[in-house]
Amino acid sequence: MNVSLALVLLTAAGGVTLRWSLRRYDTLGRQRPFPAISVGLLACLAMAALAPWFLRIRLEHRLADAASKVVGTPVSVHCQSFGEAFTDMGSELGYVMAGPDGLPEKKTTIKRNQCRDLSDFLKSDMGAPTQKQVVAVHTLTHEAIHMSGVMDESQTECLAVQRDAEMAALLGASPQEAMNLARVYWIYVYPRMPADYTSSECGPGLALDIEGDSAPWDEVTTPVNDTL
Ligand SMILES: [Zn+2]
Repeated sequence: MNVSLALVLLTAAGGVTLRWSLRRYDTLGRQRPFPAISVGLLACLAMAALAPWFLRIRLEHRLADAASKVVGTPVSVHCQSFGEAFTDMGSELGYVMAGPDGLPEKKTTIKRNQCRDLSDFLKSDMGAPTQKQVVAVHTLTHEAIHMSGVMDESQTECLAVQRDAEMAALLGASPQEAMNLARVYWIYVYPRMPADYTSSECGPGLALDIEGDSAPWDEVTTPVNDTL
């Protein structure tokens, strides 16, 4: 929508310029001044309309860079636009579609609110993320696990909680901030997830423990930020 509006505004600026160029002299032969204010204003409005689009593209690239490292192969991230969010009835926070071969595609859509929360997280000092920001970072990790080929939700969720710290660090958090975010999700959010998203085999030494180096149940050396 912003892009269409910008095109309309730029076309209008072009139209004003064309009209001036075709009638540069009045009936007495005097040169008409270039309509700089009108053209400048229309061009500025076009740039303003495009700004959110540019910001979204930049955010998508940053999220895709981090997700690609977690997946281990290049993936793309699409942040839902205003128009897409307006017509979206789904309750999920992000999704990966299955390709023609039945396997998850290497691209994900993250819902508009979660992309905004991710953007807020990137702009924050990352030391005390809000619960929405924690959930948004986890959503990106969860979709990254799907893009790596895992389709089962409880398995995806358990693998994701073990990669959240890695994702937060890739987004710019320090190792301590990243682990804090992962623990907040594991302690406060994971237990409240629907039954088909959790597993009794998710925990230290259990079947879904990948024994990586950033599991949220690893030895706690710093207190969890529990101000949520
Ligand atoms: Zn899922």
